[in-house]
Amino acid sequence: MKDIKYKIENGCWICISHYADKDGYFNVARNYKGKVYRKMHRYIYQTINNDLNHKDLILHKCNNSSCINPAHLEKGSHKENMKDRLAAGHYYNEYHPNTHINEDIAAIIKKKLNDGNTVIKVADSLNVSQYIVADIKRGRTWVRVKPKQEDSARLNVKRGEKE
Ligand SMILES: [Zn+2]
Repeated sequence: MKDIKYKIENGCWICISHYADKDGYFNVARNYKGKVYRKMHRYIYQTINNDLNHKDLILHKCNNSSCINPAHLEKGSHKENMKDRLAAGHYYNEYHPNTHINEDIAAIIKKKLNDGNTVIKVADSLNVSQYIVADIKRGRTWVRVKPKQEDSARLNVKRGEKE
């Protein structure tokens, strides 16, 4: 049986030994206690927590469907899954009504946070809400955006009303 290998990206474990399907999930056929697990994250969850029914959904707290980090996996309902995906950035983009920033600003915020700036300082320097910066810091929004130096980004943010 093929070993599962992964690389770590922003705290997420991304499998590099198996191919992902079109939804970003890694597939693995593994036996655990007489049951076969096809999705790798389900297999990982079950082997770590020893508690999974076939009806249970395993959610990615990080919203990265390719992630197999056990700390990022939790059990939930389909309803919660859809709610989480909408709320936490899977479909987050600059048209989302609750965000006044675009991808460039998100990238700059990440860079500034990486450089060790506080949430308050970053929020002030870009004139955005501290909640937006805090969510990015926690990895809840703009998960796939890569950090970018401020002067290399287009500062074309369209600012909405203050929250
Ligand atoms: Zn993750």
